[in-house]
Amino acid sequence: MQLLDGVLVSGHIKEQIKQEVIDWQAGGGKKPHLAAVLVGNNPASEAYVGSKVKHCDELGFDSTLLRLPADISEADLISEVNKLNNDDAVDGILVQLPLPDHISPDSVINAINPDKDVDGFHPISQGRMLLGQPTFLPATPYGIMLMLEYYKINTSGMHCVVIGRSNIVGTPMTILMSRNGNPGNATVTMCHSRTKNLKDFTLSADIIVAAIGRPKYVTEDMVKEGAIVIDVGINRIEDATRKSGTRLVGDVDFENVAPKCSYITPVPKGVGLMTICGLMKNTLLAAKMRAK
Ligand code: NAD
Repeated sequence: MQLLDGVLVSGHIKEQIKQEVIDWQAGGGKKPHLAAVLVGNNPASEAYVGSKVKHCDELGFDSTLLRLPADISEADLISEVNKLNNDDAVDGILVQLPLPDHISPDSVINAINPDKDVDGFHPISQGRMLLGQPTFLPATPYGIMLMLEYYKINTSGMHCVVIGRSNIVGTPMTILMSRNGNPGNATVTMCHSRTKNLKDFTLSADIIVAAIGRPKYVTEDMVKEGAIVIDVGINRIEDATRKSGTRLVGDVDFENVAPKCSYITPVPKGVGLMTICGLMKNTLLAAKMRAK
């Protein structure tokens, strides 16, 4: 079993991005600038946005963190997004999800200028991805593809089972994995909450991508010998042995599944770090495209 090591791969990619920013600035380009919008104070969202801003500093990007109250109206939030759309200094905009229940995430995402849509969630970005046109790929699926590329895993001829059909992970993953390209060139099955006998599908998978949001849901009896397992899930469970009383686990029962795998991502230190790489690469691309 080989670990698909998010620390190693993201470290390598971040070095590349840092150098690209230096070269870009040496050629007269301006620092890429990411604006992150955080509505309310959901602790997980705070942590994700904090990490994104920290990475901007580390990689030589400018960043703006716009904190807005949880009771902001949808119209006011969209008006804030429009200000960022019209701010020439800003190259990329991300609105951290989930949003409070009274706000439609679709309406807010649709309001982002597609040229600044560095999370890759806008319908124009997703449509271009579907057609195989150059675009901002959704950050998590993009990060997973970067990881497969780093380990030179070519999925041509493989059967890939994606569990989960969200717009931000599961669905784009099925598209990227089924491209006529490298690393994504697999035969893909999408499974979801209404799939009957999930195990019948996963047992025939050469590669499983689990994006479910249920701790340790994929167990060893669901995985065939030698499979590649990509665990997207981030779930906080109770753990009395930890000072905090909790710890993070993925959607895969790592301890028992890992011995059967040829490759597997850990949680934490797996896909989460790759998501940041996808976001940063998109932001640098946005800065370069906007400069043209
Ligand atoms: P989501 O809730 O939008 O989607 C979950 C999907 O899982 C749904 O499509 C649903 O049909 C499917 N599902 C639910 N129960 C199922 C079951 N019993 N069997 C089969 N399918 C089932 O979640 P999401 O936004 O796609 O995120 C999924 C997980 O990935 C979450 O744990 C989330 O925190 C994590 N996540 C991690 C990253 C990262 O960077 N590592 C990024 C985004 C999301």
